[in-house]
Order: sequence, then C-alpha cells, then structure tokens
Amino acid sequence: MSLPIPNFIRQFEGPLTRELVRDPGGFGLGQVPRIAKPDATTDMVCGYCSTGCSLKLHLKEGRPVNLSPTPDYPVNLGMACPKGWEALAPLSAPNRATHPLMRIDGALTRVGWDAAMGRFRSKLRAIQNAHGGDALAFLSTGQICTEEMAFLGTLARCGMGIAHGDGNTRQCMATAVAAYKGSFGFDAPPYTYADFEESDCIVLVGSNLCIAHPILWQRVLRNRRGPEIVVIDPRRTETAAAATQHLAIAPKSDLVLLYGLARLLIENGAVERDFVDAHTSGFAAFEAFVDDFPAGRVARETGVPEAALRRLADTVRDRDRVSFWWTMGVNQSHQATRTAQAIINLALMTGNIGRPGTGANSITGQCNAMGSRLFSNTASLLGGRDFIDAAHRAEVAATTGIPEDRIPAQNCLAYDQILDGVESGRIRGLWVVATNTAHSWSGGGRLGRALEKLDLLVVQDMYADTATARFADIVLPAAGWGEKDGTFINSERRIGLVKKVARAPGEALSDFNIFKLVAHHFGVADLFAGWIDPEAVFAMLAELSQGRPCDFSGIAGYRDLEAGRGIQWPLSEPDEDVAPERRLFEDGRFFHADGRARFVFDAPRPPAEVPCGRYPFVLLTGRGSSSQWHTGTRTQTSAVLRRLHPDAIYVELSPADAAELGLETGDRARLASRRGEIEVAVRVTSAVKRGEVFVPMHFEEVNALTLGEVDPHSRQPSYKHCAVGLAPVRGPQ
Ligand code: SF4
Repeated sequence: MSLPIPNFIRQFEGPLTRELVRDPGGFGLGQVPRIAKPDATTDMVCGYCSTGCSLKLHLKEGRPVNLSPTPDYPVNLGMACPKGWEALAPLSAPNRATHPLMRIDGALTRVGWDAAMGRFRSKLRAIQNAHGGDALAFLSTGQICTEEMAFLGTLARCGMGIAHGDGNTRQCMATAVAAYKGSFGFDAPPYTYADFEESDCIVLVGSNLCIAHPILWQRVLRNRRGPEIVVIDPRRTETAAAATQHLAIAPKSDLVLLYGLARLLIENGAVERDFVDAHTSGFAAFEAFVDDFPAGRVARETGVPEAALRRLADTVRDRDRVSFWWTMGVNQSHQATRTAQAIINLALMTGNIGRPGTGANSITGQCNAMGSRLFSNTASLLGGRDFIDAAHRAEVAATTGIPEDRIPAQNCLAYDQILDGVESGRIRGLWVVATNTAHSWSGGGRLGRALEKLDLLVVQDMYADTATARFADIVLPAAGWGEKDGTFINSERRIGLVKKVARAPGEALSDFNIFKLVAHHFGVADLFAGWIDPEAVFAMLAELSQGRPCDFSGIAGYRDLEAGRGIQWPLSEPDEDVAPERRLFEDGRFFHADGRARFVFDAPRPPAEVPCGRYPFVLLTGRGSSSQWHTGTRTQTSAVLRRLHPDAIYVELSPADAAELGLETGDRARLASRRGEIEVAVRVTSAVKRGEVFVPMHFEEVNALTLGEVDPHSRQPSYKHCAVGLAPVRGPQ
C-alpha cells in the first residue's frame, strides 16, 4: 500500500506512536536489536508449524539474505521442509500491510496510527456503552509470540473490558487440551521427539505425518529399532503408503476402532495391571464398557477386517515400546475429545507412557499453538489456570500487578459461539489478530455475510488483503516472523526463540508494540507498565508458571534459551546441563490431585450429517502438500512454494466412483453440500475409497461446503466429515 494519507485525516501522531513508528517493528522502545553485527548468522525457530525447527538466518549488512537449517538443534537436526527453506519470502511480499487503514466512504484508506487507534477506541467504547463488554470479542492465534498473546489476552479481557476471546487454536488443538486435562489433569503432551526414534511401534491416528510434519517423519525414518508403523486413516495417504499396517477405517469410525482395540488388548493379556493399579483410576468401568465392542462389531462399523484388528492388537501387546500419535484426523471430529482420550486409554492400559518410545502424543499444528494453549488468556487464565478459581485469579494478580477485580471471574464464549454471536447480533465489535477467520472457519461461507453485520471489525495482520481483512473497518499492519522478538512453544513443550532480523515494512509494528499502543489509547497503559518488552513479559510468564505443571521458572531469560538450544517445560530450577530431550510422567505421577490418570470414555455417536441420495459422498479435508500452510497468506507469497503445489482447488475420488460419474483426471466437476457448491478439478486416485472424496484445506472455497458441527467438550469443528454430491461440469470452461 503506498497511498498518501489524505490531508483531512492526517493527525499529529502522539509521542508513543512517533517513538514506535520511527523504528517500525519495535527497536524504538528501548529494545536493542538482538543481532548486533551487520554480517552475522543467528539461529531462531521457524514461524510456520509446531515442529519448531531451528533455522540459521544469514545476514549481510544487517539484512537477512538467506537461511539454512540448524544442524545441531535437537528438533530438526539440520533438516527443514520447503516452508522453512522459504521462510524469508513472506517478509518481502509486495502485498504486505504497510500502514494503518480505515474504511472511509466504503474504501480502506491509509491513515496514521493515532487516527486508526482513535477510531478503534471511539467505536469500541460506543459499543461497550450501548451493549456492554459482552458485545465485544477478539480472536487470537497460534502464530504470534507467547509474550504477545499473553499481552493481547490480558489487555483485551482485563484492560479493555472485552468479554470474549478465543484463538484459532480452537480449530486445531482444543481437543488435545480437553483430552489431556480430563485424562492427565493438565494440558500436557508427554513426549519428546526422540520418542519417534526410540519406539518399537508407532501408531499414527489421523495423521499424515509425511505431509503435515515432514521433519517428524524424518525422525521416524531415523528409528533403528525396526518399528512397526501403523496408520489409522480413511485415506491411503503418503504416510499410510509407507506404513507396515494401514487400517483404512470408515470416516469417523475411529472411536469404535479404538474401543475395539482396547477390548482385544484386554482379551490378549496386554494390560499392564501393575501400572494401571498404581497410577490410574477408572479402569474397571472402562473394561466393562469396552466389552460392548467385540471384533465382529468393530469390523462391521469400521470396515477394517477382523484379522487386521487382531494383528494390530497383537503388535501392541508384543512390542515393548509403543507410541500413539494423533493430530487433526482426531481433533477435528464431532466426538474428538473422547477419541483422543480413547488413544490415551490405550497408552495407559498397556503402560506405554513415561518411558522412551512411548506415549499418547498429540502433534500440534501451529508454531505457537502450545503458547496459545497456556498463555492466550482466553479459554484458560494465564498459565493454564481457571478464571473461575479465585485463588488462581489472586496468583495472576500478584504476579502481573493487574488488580484482581479486573480479572474476569467467568469463562468466555468459544470461537463458534463468538461467531454465532456475530451472526445473531450479540457480538457487535470484533478484533481479529493474525488469523484469517473468513477463510478458515467451517460452515458454508455464512461467516462472510455475518462479518458485514458488525459495527466494528478490526483486523491486525501482516497482510491487508486476506479474506477477513476485506470486511474490516480498520486494518492494523503487523510485523511478521523475523521482524520481532519473542518465544514459541513447540509440540514437545520446547520453548524456542524468534528474533528480529528484519525491519517490518512501512509503519507496520510488532504485535507487541501494537498492544502497547492500544493500551495507551484506551487509557490503561498504567496497568501494563511492567510489560516493557517481550523479554520482560517472558520473565513475568516464567514467574506465573511457577508451581504449575508447565513451570519454566528455571529459565532465566532469552540467553538461556539460546544457550540451551531451546528448553522443554518443565524446568523449575536453573540447570546448565538440562537434557535436550525430556518426557513427562516418568514417575507415573499425573496432574490430577490424586496423582492418577483417568480412563475417560463415552458411547460413540454418529456424525450430524451422513451421505444420502442427493449427497452420496463423505467429504474429507486435510493438508494438500508440505509446501502449503493453512490459508496460504504466507506460502502463496513464495514463487518456489507455489511451484510445488497445484494452484487451484481439486477433488480426489476413487477410480470406481470416477468411472460411474464419467470423470477423468483433469475434468471439471461441481462439488456440492447442503451449504454451498464449488467447482473443482478432478483427480482420480486409489488413495481414497469408494464413497469418499478428498479436498485440500488450503483453498478458500472448501469451507463453503464444510459443516459447522463441533465436539461438545472441546468445541473444535468437525472439518473432516460432511455429505457432498459430485457431478461433471460439461461444456466450455
Ligand atoms: Fe518450519 Fe515446520 Fe517445516 Fe520445520 S517442519 S521447517 S517448523 S514448517
């Protein structure tokens, strides 16, 4: 954006704004650039996925000119996927948001920061005065630094009086959070990546590891123990094709399969009774419950032959170190939490937890989903605490200096409820930070229409042209990865550093400094006087973690993280020799008050929508390639990555269905659900079964079809199951 500021809107920028904007991205607030030498190489973690690889940024004359994977970082061991190699491309993209924009006479128009902030404040206060804080919400992300999301959540809910907030972690990891809390007593992924290499049997449920987490697949390939690799997935994905056992289940029959597997394990003597008796509760009831899942029933309902079920049960019994891994195929389901807990149950009953090569392990999605889970101050209070617990509120008040009566004493609406509120008119003001809701939310494109109803939509992003920004009243231009300091927490609980190695374009500011500016303009800067810079906030969060399962108060600061090549929580005491790979529950003690893990289970239930005469196929969605990331706002800016994936949406269907419909690869087809229809290119492949079709998630059109059903415990949407019809498009294209 290089539009001039109209004279009538140009305002004198206040001293704080001048200080921030003078040095866009954040050096102006007394932050010293972390990279002192203009020609240097520095390590930082990647800003795409939760694997948390470390990359070496090579600088020339103070600017990053290239990068390479860090050879000795315990996560990626010198490897990177295409997104990592191309991580610098988004920074210089021509469509970066460079200046604040405000809608004037229907068009987004360049303005100064103070004008944008003035409008933000006046419109938000008007809504608040008329309807209360209950009419306000923010949507956060797993893409910004932990320090920034803690600032956002605390500022919004404790400073500005915004009643509701949630993050896009709801779309990806809310299920794992709910499952771990219920089973272990805290949201605590127990593993370390070395477990991929130390397993005798790796069971992947709903995870296409090759594509979604390619570096973790490389860790599997480094396993020298000759592991059995089991994939439970309706599709013959790249990972399933490389597995030793592929159980091609009927879509959303995973819970039945997992209960059936538990029964077979009981039958074949695989239960570790000593472990179960000493460290768990509820097994007797679980044992009685799974009696209803004999192999014959399970084979009928899942489509997996009985022999394949028995083979898997025998494998789990016979292998000493079995690790269970899951990701979005489980998390994005109408009964996701119970499915995740069914996986946890298998690990518990067979004693496959707390030892090398074991675990019930959720693999996270976004680079900082784990930071969001602990510190976004949305679904839980800072540090994984409860808003409704007075003692927890007092702890947070004591550390942050935020008066206790400003900390909400109730939980807020979840993502789907916020969007329902937008649609119903309950929510009138929405602040969206670093996420592209209009593209990524499920439920048939109704969201775009709903966003138009808002009295105020503020979008804070690296780009002003996202599907969500199109509806914005105000766009706040944000610095991206590589343009600011902070930390991410990866899937295996490793806290890693990100650094400012490039200046944000134009007047874009780091999210941290935007929040500082918001606090100033909303008259609550005094509340955040201690939130000076990211490292000061990191110290505060470390203190907040003290005594919690996620305790990392032993990390003195960013320097420790640099020296330690990232550090996994917990670390409650400084330890220069902290092991580079650590797992939880080695002592068999879990986080419930009695120290025991719980068997949690429920009867399976069918999805809300099943195939019918008009919509005879089940639509599956997932990652299309390792060169695409979510809604593509960043990966689309790389010419290299664009060459590595199809540039338009496509559907995969089986040869039998293609023959019946008279379709061939390259044909055009119309894909329709009860909520909308889209046109797609056809790809015929035996990777999908008859009656099922697959569409990659990265294209905006796909959510015109998906269903808005959510899991009742995690409120995570079920993106991977709805009924669709498919028909050829004939005639001129
Ligand atoms: Fe980055 Fe994830 Fe690729 Fe590693 S696997 S380079 S963290 S996107």
